[in-house]
Amino acid sequence: MHVIYGGTFDPVHHGHLRLALEVSDRLGSVPVSLVPCHIPPHRGETGATATQRLRLLELAIADEPCLHIDDRELRREGASYTADTLRQLRKELGAELPLAMVVGTDAFAGFDCWKEWRQIPELAHIIVVQRPGITLAPEGEPARLLAERGVDGAGALHGRASGLVLKLDPPWLDISATGIRERISRGQSPRYLAPDAVLTEIQRMGLYGACPEINF
Ligand code: ATP
Repeated sequence: MHVIYGGTFDPVHHGHLRLALEVSDRLGSVPVSLVPCHIPPHRGETGATATQRLRLLELAIADEPCLHIDDRELRREGASYTADTLRQLRKELGAELPLAMVVGTDAFAGFDCWKEWRQIPELAHIIVVQRPGITLAPEGEPARLLAERGVDGAGALHGRASGLVLKLDPPWLDISATGIRERISRGQSPRYLAPDAVLTEIQRMGLYGACPEINF
């Protein structure tokens, strides 16, 4: 089984990392690939560059055998579309290997606005992770997808290459990259919200307006 979990990771934090490990555990210790996405220039002003986000991810997952990084979207020119990434992966993995993508309920609620969204279940399973406070509308395409393709247990995903939707409700740490960036820019400590190695590197690189006086 190949599992991808995409995000901006600007920066990666304990919320992302715990979620990735929970998903890995529930699928039977399968490896999970974190896929940092290309950030359009208008979002990049206060954030980190692709190279910096990648460096922080590398530090975050060092020593964790179940987590990997797939930087293909950063190497691609322009916007990253999940359908393109999955198509490329499907080509590499062959038609038989189960492939799954992780998505929060917030993103899944707008799934039918994604580019080529109808293709996605043909390419991969979808693991929908419950984000607190975000409930899926009972009507609409995402709800229909869940009703038609939903399975109760993770085991089913191992038996097919794609096409199933699994809803998981793992513990969710109330941490956001926005909150971390805001704390740093206000001169407050972001300690304990992300791995020490990540925060030390943020300070060393002076990211997000980090000032040297604050103890990370
Ligand atoms: P930002 O605050 O910059 O929007 P973020 O912290 O929400 O960033 P993203 O990189 O945008 O993180 O999110 C990538 C994926 O991680 C999304 O699917 C999102 O639902 C999920 N995610 C974000 N925060 C958490 C969290 N605290 N716990 C688990 N998953 C999270």
